[in-house]
Amino acid sequence: MKFSQTFIPTLREVPADAVIASHRLMFRAGMIRKLANGLFAYLPLGLRSFRKVEQIIRQEMNAIGALEIKPTVVVPGELWKESGRWDAYGDALLRAKNRLGGDLVVSPTAEEAFTSLVRDELSSYRQLPLTLYQINTKYRDEIRPRYGVMRGREFVMKDAYSFHTDDESLDTVYQNMGRAYRRIFKRCGLTVIPVQADSGAMGGSGSEEFMVESEIGDNTLLLCRDCDYAANVEKAACKPDYEVPLSPDSGVPAVEKIATPAVKTIEELCAFLKTDAKKFIKTLIYRAVNVELDLSGAGGTVKPELRPPSASGPAVYPEAFFAVAIRGDLEVNEVKLAAALKAAEVVLASDADVEGLTGAPVGFAGPVGLTTIPVIADESVAALTDAVTGALARDLHYGHVSYGRDFTPWLVRDLRTARAGDRCPRCGGELYEKKGNEMGHIFKLGRKYAAPMGVHYLDEAGETRVPTMGCYGIGLDRAVASVIEEHHDDEGIIWPMTVAPYQVIILPIKYDGAVKAAADGLTASLESVGIEILLDDRAERPGVKFNDADLMGIPYRVVIGDKNLAQAKVEVKRRGQAESRLVDAARLPEELAALVYGELGELNR
Ligand code: ATP
Ligand code: MG
Repeated sequence: MKFSQTFIPTLREVPADAVIASHRLMFRAGMIRKLANGLFAYLPLGLRSFRKVEQIIRQEMNAIGALEIKPTVVVPGELWKESGRWDAYGDALLRAKNRLGGDLVVSPTAEEAFTSLVRDELSSYRQLPLTLYQINTKYRDEIRPRYGVMRGREFVMKDAYSFHTDDESLDTVYQNMGRAYRRIFKRCGLTVIPVQADSGAMGGSGSEEFMVESEIGDNTLLLCRDCDYAANVEKAACKPDYEVPLSPDSGVPAVEKIATPAVKTIEELCAFLKTDAKKFIKTLIYRAVNVELDLSGAGGTVKPELRPPSASGPAVYPEAFFAVAIRGDLEVNEVKLAAALKAAEVVLASDADVEGLTGAPVGFAGPVGLTTIPVIADESVAALTDAVTGALARDLHYGHVSYGRDFTPWLVRDLRTARAGDRCPRCGGELYEKKGNEMGHIFKLGRKYAAPMGVHYLDEAGETRVPTMGCYGIGLDRAVASVIEEHHDDEGIIWPMTVAPYQVIILPIKYDGAVKAAADGLTASLESVGIEILLDDRAERPGVKFNDADLMGIPYRVVIGDKNLAQAKVEVKRRGQAESRLVDAARLPEELAALVYGELGELNR
């Protein structure tokens, strides 16, 4: 391809809103342009790399037996009402109406569309397992699109959905997907960290995220220094840093009231009582939305209203309040709390709700004598004897409080936020922190969609059953941007061979005479052995061409100039390496083919 015949508008200046390297470089190299906030167009150079990532993903999906389909991007709102996500998905969901007033959704993800397609065709267990995927446009009305295509509003995702008769079959496909994802990222030249992730109400090991380390990462990861444990902080567990006493009340005096005037924070309280936050039971009041956990046996006099099961889902409590008790130096992990309650969302209750439910202003809640709402405790609380906690009255705390003697929570769960320095739950090693960006996610969904959407098949015995499902996503735009994040220098991109827009750039110092003839001839013979060439035929100064070559990051650069050509030589340089070397022009096709195919083979192995 001749530079003059394609469209690569390189830029010297950096767009003001581009704060990360991939955003800057994709712009400057003429790969993308911005149409509006979060909306990007890929120009020819950008699209070539994008297509290569797409092809790698497609090959690896096909290799594990996933079947590509092309559903629509716009889907009927009815399907989203059936799954319950019409209401639950929130403002990121772009809705529209057609001319007849029918509701439409621009897919942010496609569980509903795939589940509906399979529902209409499924009759027998013999059709399962089935894994379908698409590589297609998604739209999410992200509040803050940023970092270029890393977090856009419109983007392309490979999303796959699998359907199974049983957990074993689901696990097989889930494991195969995990392996395929590792291969995809390796082939793209991306270093990923697979981490355990929140799997909502499903629990267990049913969710893995593939992260790339990044200073601007939205995710906090905790990794063990001694073993391969790695988890998203939303999910991360840690070894207890305490021991649960055998007899909680041995020798602890009876509970006593302590006046704590004008003491608000835990720090102030610790200073006032000369105690440690670890001897304090912090109690937070949470409002949970759409709780699926059965609360019939839960304590509390304020009973939430139960919405009975509907065609679109199980029985839920639209709103319920809970007191969450945790050791004073720890933080509640709201993702864990929501998972424990099988709730769509948990948020701290308003000050007015706290006062109404505990009878005291914020800051004086405690589990002792709290009868209005159910008390849920983090496991750390079960180890506390002789602790301090709020006494449900202004300026008053209780001392000498012991778990099991003075209060018994309804539930005890792991609710703490693990942090750097905590102990690995697997081996006891020290956990440390990294920031990461999510590249892909594999997830065991169970019957979350199949049940409310009424998917059925007949099993071997002729019984009607609901299939179990998995879903598996990778963002293509984010993959391209992340490759650049990992492979660049001050001058520009340094593409891994597999996803480079072109494999070789031919750079004639001056495109005329013998140099032009040689450049054209070499281009033709390299193209004939299947190498992808960009020939910089522009009448630009050599400096401009060299800078653009570095910026675009095409792996091999071949410079053709009068002086070397007189010796029948050309200069070859690998982008990212300092040294160039002279090669016999006649041997160039052979040498470059070996280099290019060698690098491809290495990455694709
Ligand atoms: P994030 O936490 O980054 O918002 P997510 O958990 O919402 O991601 P999923 O719903 O799991 O993402 O989507 C699968 C993949 O789609 C992600 O791993 C990511 O690669 C990609 N993706 C999600 N949102 C965007 C976006 N706004 N722009 C580009 N890619 C995205
Ligand atoms: Mg995710």
